[in-house]
Amino acid sequence: QATEQVHGHYIGGEWTDSAGRGPASSRTQSDDGADETFESRNPATGETLATFQRGTEDDVDAALEAADDAFEEWRELSYIDRAEYLWDIYHELRDRHEELGEIVTKECGKEISEGKADVTEAWHMVEWAAGNARHPHGDVVPSEIGSKDAYMRRKPRGVVGCITPWNFPVAIPFWHMAIALVEGNTVVWKPAEQTPWCGQIIAEMMDDSGIPDGVFNMVQGYGDAGAAITDDGRVDTVLFTGSAEVGHEIAGKVGNEPGKLAACEMGGKNGIVITEEADLDIAVHSAVMSSFKTTGQRCVSSERLVVHSDVYDEFKERFVDVAQKIAVGDPLEEDTFMGPAIEPDHVEKIRQHNDLAREEGAEVLVDRFELEDGEIPDGHEDGNWVGPFVYEVDYDADDDLRCLQEECFGPHVALIEYDGDIERALEIHNDTPYGLAGAVISEDYRQLNAFRDRADLGLAYANLPCIGAEVQLPFGGVKKSGNGYPSAREAIEAVTERTAWTMNNSKDIE
Ligand code: NAD
Repeated sequence: QATEQVHGHYIGGEWTDSAGRGPASSRTQSDDGADETFESRNPATGETLATFQRGTEDDVDAALEAADDAFEEWRELSYIDRAEYLWDIYHELRDRHEELGEIVTKECGKEISEGKADVTEAWHMVEWAAGNARHPHGDVVPSEIGSKDAYMRRKPRGVVGCITPWNFPVAIPFWHMAIALVEGNTVVWKPAEQTPWCGQIIAEMMDDSGIPDGVFNMVQGYGDAGAAITDDGRVDTVLFTGSAEVGHEIAGKVGNEPGKLAACEMGGKNGIVITEEADLDIAVHSAVMSSFKTTGQRCVSSERLVVHSDVYDEFKERFVDVAQKIAVGDPLEEDTFMGPAIEPDHVEKIRQHNDLAREEGAEVLVDRFELEDGEIPDGHEDGNWVGPFVYEVDYDADDDLRCLQEECFGPHVALIEYDGDIERALEIHNDTPYGLAGAVISEDYRQLNAFRDRADLGLAYANLPCIGAEVQLPFGGVKKSGNGYPSAREAIEAVTERTAWTMNNSKDIE
């Protein structure tokens, strides 16, 4: 349940108030004019769910000191002992699946099935990371000299700073933190400012697991608290998931510091290629799911549908028909397909993207940005409502449109007709600065293989919606979408050092 309490941070095994600000409940503004507290709000109703203290540089400093102090003892534990704390959390995530899924939906507005899926994905990652404690960590290799042992050993890097977005408020923090902790690092985490309640609950779970003081620390707050983490010399690795704007800034800053590493996952301008060989039932289903689920607010959501001219008219008619009818509504209702946008500022940003498409000459096919009377559920008038926006553009006439290049992160999607073979489709598909996720819909294996091999993507799907993640696979992008992998198996590279060990087993000193 949401409470009246003003929640603080979790530092060094204690719940703490913001440093230097006195009791947060008595004041709401600091001397420098910045708000000292902030609220978690339900995007579907506008109601306040809980109030939180806004972290300062002093809070980050205290959290980093605690993490730094705890590192030596934590690294001495075996992998398997470290994983025990994570197994506790795994069971709690499973036992509280329904309850936590509802909290995710209340705080970030995702449809309830998606809220629960966020929790499922979190336990998948925790299971993977904790299970990985019993897997080999390193390589034994042949030596050039018979009497020598040669192998690679991994060791933790130290303090890992984790900065996460709001759209997967339970799963993504565990993508970062589970593997960092099992590998023997300590963590300072800043949840997204839109989803501090999920942050509070994760910190409570960590506390309940009995994890040693200082191994896990959480500071609530905004981007300034995030920057205080990334900029500090005590941080050895930064794991970031969020917008390209912030990710590029972090990758640039941290990448220039010797000895420090950043792995950043960012946004995309994702597309689906629908060829003349496509099964149109699959094509329509995939495009609808990828463009409108979670209100288009997934890093893998599609905003470009590249469709062959042989099937264009039929696909367009069917896709537009579904987009006109999609149920937008209370995300807690099981039959709602699309919930609200995260916050009023984001509604405004989506409006600007829709306007840009219009200004650039797009033909608007569906404009449900402003919902009609009766579409907004009773009692939800203050929610951040938006509906689908679908348009078509003539790419052959102008291949330089900003609306085809910039991520909107909303239910905003372009139809682009193409003539020719899969090479032409790939040319259009790859014409963005990003390379996160994309799909191809075709019954011809040669076209599927061409897409797999030549689409500029980290995540490629065939005859599937362009959504979903498997923790056994890498999750990341190319071009401006990714800079290292902050999750799963590949994140081990970012949170460990490698030692190449060669040992002489004989008395020969050659
Ligand atoms: P965001 O970049 O605005 O914020 C992400 C986090 O960074 C937040 O915790 C924020 O407080 C913090 N932050 C902001 N400025 C900072 C700074 N200067 N230094 C350090 N930290 C700072 O992103 P968002 O709006 O929360 O999330 C949406 C974006 O995330 C979209 O672009 C989406 O595509 C992307 N995303 C990517 C993935 C992926 O795996 N590739 C997954 C989910 C979301």
